[in-house]
Amino acid sequence: MDDDPSEPPGPPDNGTILLEVVKAFEICSNAATHADLKPAERVERLVQAHSSLMAAFGPGHRVTFADILDRLSGDQAGMLEGLIPAWLDATDLSGVRLLDPEGIPTAGGFDFRQEAELVRWKAAKLGKQPEGVTAQGLDAEYSQESVFRSIKGDFYQRHRTTLITRPVVPTSELPDLLLPLQANRFYQPIEQYAQYQGWFFPCTACQWPMKITLTRSGRRARGTVQCLYPWHADTGSVYVFTPTTGSEPPVLHPDFECRQPSARHARLWTGTLPHIPQPLRASDHLALHRAVWRYTTVSGLPELKTHQALEEALAGTGCTPALWPFNDTFDHAVMSPHGEVLFSADFKDYTWQNHLIAKIHRDAGDSGGAKWLIVPDHRSEQVDHLNAAGRPYDLQAITATDYLTMVVETVKENPRDGQ
Ligand SMILES: [Zn+2]
Repeated sequence: MDDDPSEPPGPPDNGTILLEVVKAFEICSNAATHADLKPAERVERLVQAHSSLMAAFGPGHRVTFADILDRLSGDQAGMLEGLIPAWLDATDLSGVRLLDPEGIPTAGGFDFRQEAELVRWKAAKLGKQPEGVTAQGLDAEYSQESVFRSIKGDFYQRHRTTLITRPVVPTSELPDLLLPLQANRFYQPIEQYAQYQGWFFPCTACQWPMKITLTRSGRRARGTVQCLYPWHADTGSVYVFTPTTGSEPPVLHPDFECRQPSARHARLWTGTLPHIPQPLRASDHLALHRAVWRYTTVSGLPELKTHQALEEALAGTGCTPALWPFNDTFDHAVMSPHGEVLFSADFKDYTWQNHLIAKIHRDAGDSGGAKWLIVPDHRSEQVDHLNAAGRPYDLQAITATDYLTMVVETVKENPRDGQ
């Protein structure tokens, strides 16, 4: 189904070429929005993105430099339509904007690249790779694999929990997190796109700085603040403000009423909470790199909640939940009183389920041997598709709340296991 890592690389397939296109857009975004670049460096990156697009498409399909510049901001920003050759199947990305009108990678574009690379890391590469800056080179050190490697050791569980619960930290308190030195570098200055006159606002669901956009219609200017994780924005992490003069921070108002969880989903709710975020000084704080936030913090929130809920629900049964057990072989286990693994599970928070399906086939199930694949409750529409992919490998998909219910009922119905 997917690429076999033991096979020699063949010619690039459709998915590999599509990934190259998404990477080129990310390099463009970096060139256009990175505050520290000199003008010559910006142009150099744009030229690189242009040549990597041309290499991906091959002779016979022309992309001009102007075509690229048109897609860096405004209405056309991040759109593939009209740019890619007709023979390239981009159904997955049809109508998807890879960059927003300010040139920042959208959640969909950002996740497409990160998730495609998790699956395709040993896939066929294009013959000639452009030298210099590559999208992968820009943030390879922030990949999930690199993050988990840097916190390995006796305090793994504590460090990983810290990265989930403290995505923002006052600069002076970074040493207090007691992370390994190589993990401190994941904390960086607050991104320009999350600042307004030196202030930023943490999302109430994940605490990470939200993106700020200023728009103007006629004489009226308006600010919008919104979390870059769509589930948080959809449940209420979108606020508006009237631009301020001087150094006073603006006051946020909810753009719409916060969404409330149903009773059944309240226990593991990871959506927005109905508090108004307070302004914080950007110069006094550091925040996790976007890739670490997206694939460690955001993915980790339902993992922590599920684990805590199981600790409470299984208290007194003799069975114990274990987070990232056996050196993180999988994400979660429930152990019998005799030390047997009753349930083993891995959490997967993929935006693009086709990448996850490809990964299931590549790994012939879960790479660590987990029997359950848990998706956050808000991704329940993925369960049937993932089940179809996982069935031949004895891997079953389930939402976090259904997993919690199923484990608790099973343990309580079989008291001999739990006594
Ligand atoms: Zn958020």
